[in-house]
Formats: sequence, C-alpha cells, structure tokens
Amino acid sequence: MKTNILILFFLLTLIACSKQEKTDLIITNANVYTVNDDFAKAEAFAVKDGKIIAVGSADEIQKKYVALETVDANGKTIVPGLIDAHCHFFGLGLQQQKVDLTGTKSYDEVLEKLVAFQKEKNVSYITGRGWDQNDWEVKEFPTKEKLDALFPKTPVAVRRIDGHALLANQAAIDLAGVTVNTPFSGGDILKKDGKLTGVFIDNPMGLIGSTIPGPTKNEAAQALKDAEKICFDLGLTTVDDAGLSKEAIELIDSLQQAGELQIRVYAMVSANKQNLDYYLDKGISKTDLLNVRSFKFYGDGALGSRGAAMRKPYSDKPNHYGALVNTIETIQQTAKRIADSDFQMNTHAIGDSANHILLQTYAAVLKDKKDRRWRIEHAQIVSPEDFEAFKNIIPSIQPTHATSDMYWAEDRVGSERIKGGYAYKDLLNKYGKVALGTDFPVEKVSPFLTFYAAVARKDLNNYPKEGFQTGNALSREETLKGMTIWAAYSNFEENEKGSIETSKFADFIILDKNIMEVEINEVPTIKVLQTFVNGEKVK
Ligand SMILES: [Zn+2]
Repeated sequence: MKTNILILFFLLTLIACSKQEKTDLIITNANVYTVNDDFAKAEAFAVKDGKIIAVGSADEIQKKYVALETVDANGKTIVPGLIDAHCHFFGLGLQQQKVDLTGTKSYDEVLEKLVAFQKEKNVSYITGRGWDQNDWEVKEFPTKEKLDALFPKTPVAVRRIDGHALLANQAAIDLAGVTVNTPFSGGDILKKDGKLTGVFIDNPMGLIGSTIPGPTKNEAAQALKDAEKICFDLGLTTVDDAGLSKEAIELIDSLQQAGELQIRVYAMVSANKQNLDYYLDKGISKTDLLNVRSFKFYGDGALGSRGAAMRKPYSDKPNHYGALVNTIETIQQTAKRIADSDFQMNTHAIGDSANHILLQTYAAVLKDKKDRRWRIEHAQIVSPEDFEAFKNIIPSIQPTHATSDMYWAEDRVGSERIKGGYAYKDLLNKYGKVALGTDFPVEKVSPFLTFYAAVARKDLNNYPKEGFQTGNALSREETLKGMTIWAAYSNFEENEKGSIETSKFADFIILDKNIMEVEINEVPTIKVLQTFVNGEKVK
C-alpha cells in the first residue's frame, strides 16, 4: 500500500512537471519589441541553450515553462541586441590603447596622464595625441627631461593636438637612431643648449613615427576586449568591422573560441591583393560568433577633406573633383573576382561619381547572379538618376554622418546636389531596407545617437530647429529595423539574429526608456540596463 502511494505521488509529480517545460531563462513583465515581420510586441520569452524558444504573453510563457532563472523586466522596454552595420571595432579598441591628452592644462598634467595611462595599460610603447602648449600657462614647447625621468626605458611619442608636432622621450629617440646630427628636410627637430628637446615638427616626425611598432598580440587582444566592453555597455551585440586584416580576424576567432570574446563580429576583410588571394581561395567561413564572407573595398575619400569623387567640381573649390582611390580597372577587376565567388562586396563610396561608378560596376558583374546583397557603404551623395540602381544594392548608411556634415556639406556640393545627399529615406524606398551603422570611432559609438540622428536629423543642440532635410528622416520603426533585422539581413544573418523570435540567438537588451515612444530629444540619453548575448548577461 505504502509503495503504491509513493508511486502515485511520483506519477503525479511527473505529470505536473511535464506540463511545464524546463528552460534556462525566462524574461517576463517586459515591453518587448520583437521586430518580427509584423513588428509585434510581446511580454515575455523563454531561452534555452542560448536561443529563444518561445515568445508570448507573460501568462503563456509562465504556464508553459519553468526556468533556472527568471528576469522580471519591470515593464521596461526590450529590443533585439543592436547591430552596427559599419564600424571599426578593432580600431576603437586600438584607440583605447593610446593616451588621450586633449584638454590638458599643463605639461605636468600631460605627465600625470601618461603615468596613469601606463599604470592601467602597461603598453610596450606609449603613443597618443592631444597636448597643446597654447592651453598651458607656460606656452612654450615642452622638453623631454621629466619624461625621460618618468619613462627611462619605455619609448613615449605623443602628438600635438593638430598632429603637426610630436614629443618623444630619449628611449623613443634612441629606438629611431636619431641624434643631434641627424639630417632632415622640412619641419624641425628642436634643440636647446645643443641637445635634443624631444620635440619634432612636421617631416622629421616621420623619423620617430616609422619606428613605432604595431600592437603586440597581447595589446591587440586587450584592444578587442576593451572595444567589446564599450559596445556591450551601449547595447551592441554584433559589430560589422569594415576592414580587417587576416591577423585581426584570426585573433578575433581565437579569442572567441577561447571564450574570451563574446561579441559577434561580421568581418569585412580589407580587399587588398593578398587578402583577396587568400580568402577567395579559402572561401566563406562562419561560426556562431564570427562570419567571414565579405570584403571592404574603397571607392573614394571623404567629403570634408574634398576627397570624395564628384562628377562635377566641388562647389567650394573650382576645378576640383576629388578622386577615386582605386583605378576604374582595379574596381572592375576586383568586383569581377568577388562576383565569381560567394563573397559579398562592400564598397566605401561617398561622392556621386564614386557611387555612380560602383553601382554600374556592381550591376555589370552581378548580372544573372542571385541574392548577392552587395552593399555600398556610406552612399552619401547620389545623383538623381543613380537612385534607381539601389533597387538591387543595399545602402549601408550612418545617420550621424548627416548631422555631423550638415553644417558644411552644402558648401561642398551646392544646393542642387545636396538634395541627393544623406538621402536615407529615398534609399530605403528603393531597396526596401537600409543597414544602419555609426562608423565609430570616426563618430561616437552610441547607437542611440544614430537612432536620434536618423529620426530627428538634428544635432544634440536641437539644430537645425526644423531638422536637416527631414524628408529623408526615417521613422522609429524603420530605424530600429535598420539597427537590427535589416542589418542582420545585410550580413546574411536574418535567420539567426535581428529579432526576438523563436530559434534565434537570445541577443537582446533592456532599456531604461521606451525608445519607440519617449520624447525624441530623450533618445540620446537612453541607458542600456542589461545586455544579453546567447542568453548570457554580458552587461
Ligand atoms: Zn568606415
């Protein structure tokens, strides 16, 4: 009899348990923007083995699942982990390995900053930028004695704010083999009482600069980890790094495999000859964290420096057209080679001439090819007749470029051509999707600044009052899609990320404000409360 009761009890427990499926994590009581096809909202979802296994109301999820861990979001907004479709992730990390001396008010403060930096980073060669003796009480160039005393063995070479002067210590000077007798032309090597002061101006800076080594493997690894932390804190869970070397890609892969780097990386391989030879032969490679299936190629320069290639002269510099940075022949040959593989080609094109040539080249080599999803990066100034070609080419755009450039862009291109400038909505209307990014560290990393710039088309001082060419503003829904599902699509990853849907990676973020409804001026101040990658909390 006793045994029977025990068995009955056991069976009842089993039935009760079988009603509720076991899972790793439940997120409930949330305002979830799933970014699925219907842009539907939800209250809860369940996660198992790093993937989302169910999305629904809090009731549905809690009835069906029992989890090892439950996160009550307290009604806060959740969106899919954000994707930056064009950034320089490794570059951001490397920047963290350099000392930032901007705003220092004295030479002593410069020295203090150098000491504090080295205490934290312990790099083999200290580099950085930003000192300006005009901001100091003693407005004279510094001399290196104190620097030599503080860093007798570690080379130090830090540039002035404008990049036209460099202060080096004796260790750096010795490494470069420079003495008081070293000849030079142009610029200056400052001397005092017949001795080097450590200050190099213009040309001779190269004597020191050419001996600054690249980062060591440890420094490069640290750079990637530092960049990851910045990204996770801001809700980025995938970064498309626009232009990586083979060494960087292999380092990222090894850190990810070792569990030391958790951010997902879409690698755009720098399209030089060596890399093309190597990767076209190797073919596409992909893990859950790293996708190597695209090349980053350069069409032209930038608009600010009048390097962007224009079809007609710049409006503020007669007879100046800017320039392509590759010959048309190289552009065509490279495109052909990539088109004959499965790789994607992502080309930097800013001026209307670069966009025109690239769009035509793409069309020619992609004829008869299906679903290649080639991208134009930036697509800043586009001729009216070229918009049509974006029916087949993904515009990969960076909304903060519009609000950074709006003060002078019309000076460069005039009142007619600016109409096809930063024309995000027009581009969206053609392709049906846009991939949004920041181009950090050229711009600030925050995706919330991108969101704000895309929707408001204003700077943080609410300028211009009516917004810059607001006919090309994106809606909040379009913007969120551009930072999630459409960016994922531009990486051929829309089946594994970019929305909170069953069978996708559990990459999502919890925000302190409802990004879809809060006053638009508040968007730049939105904070990420928690970031999850693969169902694991990484912030
Ligand atoms: Zn870039």
